[in-house]
Amino acid sequence: MITSAKRVFLSAVALTLCNPVCADTLVSTQDEFRQAISTATPGDTIIMADGEWNDFEMLFSGVGSSDEPITLTAQNKGSVIITGQSNLRLVGEYLVVSGLVFKDGYSPTNTVVSFRAASGRLASHSRVTELVIDHFNNPERFETDFWVMMYGQHNRFDHNFLAGKSNAGVTMAVRLDSENSRENYHQIDHNYFGPRPILGSNGGETLRIGTSQYSLTDSFTLIEYNYFDRRDGEVEIISSKSGSNTFRGNVFFESRGTLTLRHGNDNLIEDNVFLGNGVDHTGGIRVINKRQTVRNNYLSNLKGHRFGGALVVMNGVPNSPINRYHQVEDSVIANNTIIESDHIELAAGADSERSAPPIRTTFQNNLIINAEVKDSIAVHGDISGITFSDNITSGILVFPSNQGFEARTLSLVEGSNGLLYPGAALADIGVSKSLSVLDRKDTGPSWYPKPGYEEAFDRGDVSTVVGGNDTLSDVVANSLPGDVIELEPGEYIVSKFLAIAHPLTIRGVTDGETRPIIKFERSTLFELKDGGSLKLEGITIDGSMAPDTYNNSVIRTSRYSMLNNYELYIDDVQVRNLNVNHSFHFLKVAMHTMAENIEIRNSDFQDITGHILALNRETDDLGIYNAEYVTIQNSSFINIEGSLATIYRGGTDESTFGPHFRLENSTLDNVGNGSRNSSQASVSLLGVQSTFISDNQFTNSAPIRVIHTVGEPVTTLSENVFSNTMAPIIREFQRPVL
Ligand code: CA
Repeated sequence: MITSAKRVFLSAVALTLCNPVCADTLVSTQDEFRQAISTATPGDTIIMADGEWNDFEMLFSGVGSSDEPITLTAQNKGSVIITGQSNLRLVGEYLVVSGLVFKDGYSPTNTVVSFRAASGRLASHSRVTELVIDHFNNPERFETDFWVMMYGQHNRFDHNFLAGKSNAGVTMAVRLDSENSRENYHQIDHNYFGPRPILGSNGGETLRIGTSQYSLTDSFTLIEYNYFDRRDGEVEIISSKSGSNTFRGNVFFESRGTLTLRHGNDNLIEDNVFLGNGVDHTGGIRVINKRQTVRNNYLSNLKGHRFGGALVVMNGVPNSPINRYHQVEDSVIANNTIIESDHIELAAGADSERSAPPIRTTFQNNLIINAEVKDSIAVHGDISGITFSDNITSGILVFPSNQGFEARTLSLVEGSNGLLYPGAALADIGVSKSLSVLDRKDTGPSWYPKPGYEEAFDRGDVSTVVGGNDTLSDVVANSLPGDVIELEPGEYIVSKFLAIAHPLTIRGVTDGETRPIIKFERSTLFELKDGGSLKLEGITIDGSMAPDTYNNSVIRTSRYSMLNNYELYIDDVQVRNLNVNHSFHFLKVAMHTMAENIEIRNSDFQDITGHILALNRETDDLGIYNAEYVTIQNSSFINIEGSLATIYRGGTDESTFGPHFRLENSTLDNVGNGSRNSSQASVSLLGVQSTFISDNQFTNSAPIRVIHTVGEPVTTLSENVFSNTMAPIIREFQRPVL
């Protein structure tokens, strides 16, 4: 056999372990890689040369031994970068992969790292460690793929970094779809699961163990000492869909959603720490099925509700189909500490279908503490099958049971592990003093930096622009992320689309009465590209020079799918004369784009033929939507033919948090009456989960129309004045008609 690869013999010490001889082989090309893999024998190490490996579908096939695995690694860990259309498959036994970085690309198949080849052959007794997958996303947001698929048995996935998955699909899944992938005893430990943004749809889980189909078989997967940092994808962070898994010692930091025992029995959740820090929709543990044990977990400052609460015990479906909800039976919830968390939900989801209450289940030695009294334990159905004993509470308004709860007034002191404990000795109640809290730095590869909290806006340079023709265009084109562009008073004529590809602030400099006025000659002024976000302050935007065609806008998203959620802040902005033709919108979005946050404050809009916020492009009723949070305060809207906001979230899937809509202290005069406004609403909300409309004045306007379609939406309308305006119309659980 001839190879161009260098073969470097190991030291004599290593040689003694190798039979008859083992080698380090440095490979620099894809051919050399394949050659080295094909000839590798137990104990060999294939070393990929530092640098970029582009468009590389790596097949690592071989059979090592427990003493002498075959190893694939980097010349220098972190310096081998796999880019483009690339992936990695492992097949065989006793294989080890370490030190590789996947970024600036995506997998051409449905998986980045798979413990299985296309042929269906599996890997077992193999290990992937110190691997990085960083924003390795298919550019189409709803093209589903997976970053890691574990098959086989006795594999280990540890000290890896996985962050920034933004397209649909579970980040990591353990598959039980063949006999030799069940009872797998995989170990998933010390991984760093870094930020995953809100997906706005089902399919944003971080970790799924099994599927409903094989959920009554045992997986025996151990998930321990992993750090889940700001994993916001959807309501399930972890979805356990198999039996006899152990979740131990993990930290869930500011992560929306819960660890859910969705299907399968005999699972153990212990010694985990959930730190919500008051972030919306942060949750804890959701219990479904038989013989589950939830003990010694610390749950702090979690704000999630309903299925996303701090602790949720579900109702089941009698004789449940395998993909619905099995009754909670013979389960134990003990010695957990729940501090400052808004919602504990018992018999959650009880309805005519989910009518089987929890039975033979104990709830004991738990500590539940709120600094101020609140009604944080909700009972949704029959809980006579739960035995409560020796639980101690402080700051709970109503107990779920007459027995098993003792109210005390407790103050908290910080233990040596950083967690809070009651000052008074309470033997055996709540989590143990010895619970150790995993440190983020002890997860993932030590050589790869973990993300911090970088401000998106106003962190870059400030430049000043004066009025004129296209004076703004070049400055925007040459801007860097976080820059601020200040406009002197004057008139700005813009003849090109202003592409916003990163966070950018455009701020008017006031000069007494005069403000900068922007007029534009194209069908839109700002186009948000993937990665773009925009903040506008203290300016006037006038649409009178826009082309005489319909469907103009001031701001639009990319026409294509956007992976990154964007933010849009409008403060002290005047918008006028969007009326050269019909359907001239302020914001117009495309399908498969997602605003994480839109805020309009202290702004005035007048004479507009379209919608202010047209967030209604996901009409296929798959539970996908266009904006998570929309907030409008202290603003006025006059002569708006379309709606102030039209938000559409169709479908009956229950996996998402939003949308959220808030309108306060604003005036609407002649809003929503245009003949082309199909909703005939001043505010049109379908499937919005949280609505707050308060202290507004509606005059000569179309009504507010709210349609509830899914979940337990909360709609609050208060202190609004309606003059010559029909009262709000709220329809309960109506399927959208298309
Ligand atoms: Ca899900």
